[in-house]
Amino acid sequence: MEDNYPKRPRKRILRRKTVAGRCDVCGQEMPLCYKCQKCGYLICQQCMAHGPRRFSCNTVTWVCPNCLNWETL
Ligand SMILES: [Zn+2]
Ligand SMILES: [Zn+2]
Repeated sequence: MEDNYPKRPRKRILRRKTVAGRCDVCGQEMPLCYKCQKCGYLICQQCMAHGPRRFSCNTVTWVCPNCLNWETL
């Protein structure tokens, strides 16, 4: 007899790089801001959602308007 271990589904932990701080776009203190890992630029979720087109934003990436660094969420 052979033991067949059931395959364990791999759980992917989504690392959200959100921090609390002052949004560099609207200047308001926000509990959830996305932070550019390169230059430290902060964008709150509202600005990300309602911001101008220069924020290339989808479910996985956004472009820092300050240093044009592609950040993954
Ligand atoms: Zn903002
Ligand atoms: Zn940046």
